[in-house]
Amino acid sequence: MKVLVIEDEKKLAAYVRRALTEHGYVVDVASDGVGGLHLARETQYDLILLDVMLPGMDGFSVLREIRRTDRVPVLMLTARDKIEDRVRGLHDGADDYLGKPFALSELLARVLALGRRSGLNSAANAGQNVLHAGDLELDLLRRRAFRGGTRLDLTAKEFTLLSLLMRKQGEVLSRLELAEQVWDINFNSNTNVVEVAIRRLRGKVDDPFPLKLLHTVRGMGYVLEDRTKNS
Ligand code: CA
Repeated sequence: MKVLVIEDEKKLAAYVRRALTEHGYVVDVASDGVGGLHLARETQYDLILLDVMLPGMDGFSVLREIRRTDRVPVLMLTARDKIEDRVRGLHDGADDYLGKPFALSELLARVLALGRRSGLNSAANAGQNVLHAGDLELDLLRRRAFRGGTRLDLTAKEFTLLSLLMRKQGEVLSRLELAEQVWDINFNSNTNVVEVAIRRLRGKVDDPFPLKLLHTVRGMGYVLEDRTKNS
């Protein structure tokens, strides 16, 4: 499930991104209304989290523009005490709102409910919660990984990293992308946190097994794919 977060408070955006990523969502972040609208138009999202107070174009204007062409579920982030903002947001086509500050559990519950409402987490689509590559299986809801039926012992970060690679199977993910999505850190060439994590992950996911799934693409990044298929 792909989520767009349009939020100018950097810390909050990073917090939301990490929380959703750790729960198996693929997350893009825009820090202003114009950038957010641009992303919303060029990418198919399953859910948009939209802050009201944004520099330049405010959340209501972004929502109206999105609604001209798209029925994607929108969760507005409003000030806790501003009832008029909620009413206005719902009137303009928001699907739900969340008052700031919010607890992580509240955010996740709303996101899950909206996903369910739009049919993404319905029984018919339950299969999306389990990802496969070769004999590697990732259960996103229970946060468990298996290879050939054997449970893999992964840390939370390793699980997040692997779920990202599996969701984008066959796509090369750069160190920058992984660093931002999994650790919320801006890329810095002195940092080798991604390389170290990939090495550890490989030790658990690939090294004990004959079929290698996690590949390094020199100078570009990493890709997870079963290369015995479709090649
Ligand atoms: Ca704001």
